Parts: sequence; structure tokens; C-alpha cells
Amino acid sequence: MKAKKKDVRALTKEQLRAFFEAQGDKAFRGNQVYEWLWNKGAHSFEDMTNISKKTREMLEENFVINHIRVDQMQRSTDGTIKNAVRLHDDLIVESVLIPTPTRTTACVSSQVGCSLDCKFCATARLKRMRNLNPDEIYDQVVAIDNESRLYHNRPLSNIVFMGMGEPLMNYNNVIAAIDKITSPEGLGMAPRRITLSTSGIPKMIKKMADDEVRFKLAVSLHSAIDEVRTRIMPFNETFPLDQLREALEYWYSKTKSRVTYEYVVWKGINDRKEDIDALVRFCGYIPCKVNLIEYNPIDDGEFQQASSQAIDKYIHGLESRGFVVNVRRSRGKDIDAACGQLANKQV
Ligand code: SAH
Repeated sequence: MKAKKKDVRALTKEQLRAFFEAQGDKAFRGNQVYEWLWNKGAHSFEDMTNISKKTREMLEENFVINHIRVDQMQRSTDGTIKNAVRLHDDLIVESVLIPTPTRTTACVSSQVGCSLDCKFCATARLKRMRNLNPDEIYDQVVAIDNESRLYHNRPLSNIVFMGMGEPLMNYNNVIAAIDKITSPEGLGMAPRRITLSTSGIPKMIKKMADDEVRFKLAVSLHSAIDEVRTRIMPFNETFPLDQLREALEYWYSKTKSRVTYEYVVWKGINDRKEDIDALVRFCGYIPCKVNLIEYNPIDDGEFQQASSQAIDKYIHGLESRGFVVNVRRSRGKDIDAACGQLANKQV
């Protein structure tokens, strides 16, 4: 049986150049193919018109070009668009376009399913099937950029890794995708317009700091008390808050980049004074800001958004100590595109 053909988009430019050299051809041919794949978005070797027919056939024999396919696109009344994205092996992930008056943000997935077990998140209920490849992440961004131009008459301005999956559990591929997104050969986007959101894996936060990444970091905190956090995010047992704190202090010392804490306030879970006090203390460790996210119900009612009075107490508690806090309203709720709702309709 013939060996399975390799996805040509898994190769770096250097690897493509080396491939052509090994074939007795010019390394430069690698640049040409790379440009077709990444700048011109070619979906077949046939399209590569400045490459000889013989070479195209040779490529065809050795490689496939995998591309994502937007299977279904849903548009919310608020302008949010959700894509159901079919991968080459028929698995599905979702990505979202979120327009505001001043920006268009792509919310992209990094894994099929998720291996973490946050009790309030729909994606956590799906088994983690596999990591996304760099090109599968990149393609989601390109698809949303195209939709942004088509429906909102402007290019994509920001990217958040807040879709399905835990990006730090797929570190290498996420970094490779971001490299491509920020490189002039890809989309040429500024790293500061990209935010990676993590549930908080200390070792990987330190690795990012050592790698001197230039994108922004958001951490899904939701509680600054171990006992409470473990109840809603059980992996906190393995990576407790003091380890997270230490990693974040390391991150800040290396990058000087302020962290965003994402935080949902739930009735009867983290709406007490001691919860607010603990968050205020946690905010004192490194420069940060807090995004209070609206809860998007996913189920039976175990979790309920706290009252607006409870949220006001959080805002007051933080602001009175000089911390920056924003309240983030949900977008795209009517099409299950809001935080934590991705995959709602696949379970
Ligand atoms: N795994 C990453 C990114 C995906 S989730 C992370 O944990 O950060 C993106 C954000 O949505 C996280 O802050 C997450 O805690 C939050 N979230 C998950 N489920 C939610 C829900 N039902 N309502 C509101 N926010 C939710």
C-alpha cells in the first residue's frame, strides 16, 4: 500500500526548499510553492501556474493540500457570525466573528474538544479528539477575515484564542499559527492585536515568557480561592493558585505585559465578600485588568449569573483599589456563539 500523502502545508518554507533540492530541483521552487500555499491560498497544485506540469504532478504524487471548509455559517442579529468549520478528517470546530463599531475580532479554536473540565463550559463536555494543526488555526482566521471584508467592509483587526480548546495544551501549533498570522508572508497582523486565553497552566505560561512572545495573555480566573476554583475548574487541584501566581509573576517580569483576568460571577458560588476580597488581593500581584464576563447558560441551572448588585460590588471592590475592570456583554447568544457555548448543539 502506498504511504499516506503528507499535508504540504505542514512543511515550513525551509523544509519545502530542502524537498526540492533533494529532488534535484532548485530550492527557489520551494519559495514559489510556499507563496501559492500561503499568500495566494491555492487549494490545488493545478492552480500553481508558474510551476511546470511535471513538477505539479510530482507534488500531487507526494502531497495533499488540506484546507478547512466552512460548513455552516450562522449570523446573529447583533452581527456576530459563527462558522462551523469542517476539517479534512470531518471533525468540526467552531470559530466566531465579533464586530464592534471599531473592531472586528476573530475568536478561534485551538483543539477539537477540550481535555479540561470546567463545569460551566459546553466545550468541556466534548472529548478532546485532537489538536488543530497550524494551518487549521490559520485558515479559521483567513475565513473570518474574508467574512469581515464581505459583511462589514473592513479587514479583521483582532484575534482571540477563546474558541474551543485550551491553547496552551497545543502550544507548538498555536505558536506556529501565530507566527504565520503575524508574518508579512501571512497576514502581517501585529502581535499586540492577538490575545491568547488560557485556563492557567503555570508551566506553559512560564514557557511563553521564556519564548518572549509578543501577543497578550488572558487568564480565566473565575475565583481567587482554591477551594472555589477547584469546584468549578477541577484541574485547579493540579495547578493551584499559588503556582498560577508564581507563573504570572514570572510572565510579567519577563514580558512587562499586563494580564487580563476573565471572571464570571455566579450566584451562590463566587458572589460573597470573601470572593471579592480574594480577587482584589490576587490583582495586587502583577499589573492586570479584570473582564467581568456575562454568563452564558449551557444547561440545567447549576450555574446562574449573579445579580447585577453582586456584580456592582465586584466593580466597586476593584475600582476602589484602583484596579481596572470592564464588564463584557455577550455577543451572538442567539446562535450559541458566545463564550462557553461553542459545541452546545453537538452534544
Ligand atoms: N481554554 C481557554 C479558552 C476558551 S474559553 C480558557 O479557558 O481561557 C474562553 C472564555 O470563556 C474563558 O474565560 C472561559 O472561562 C469562558 N467561559 C467558558 N464557558 C463560559 C460560559 N458558559 N459563559 C461565559 N463564559 C464562559
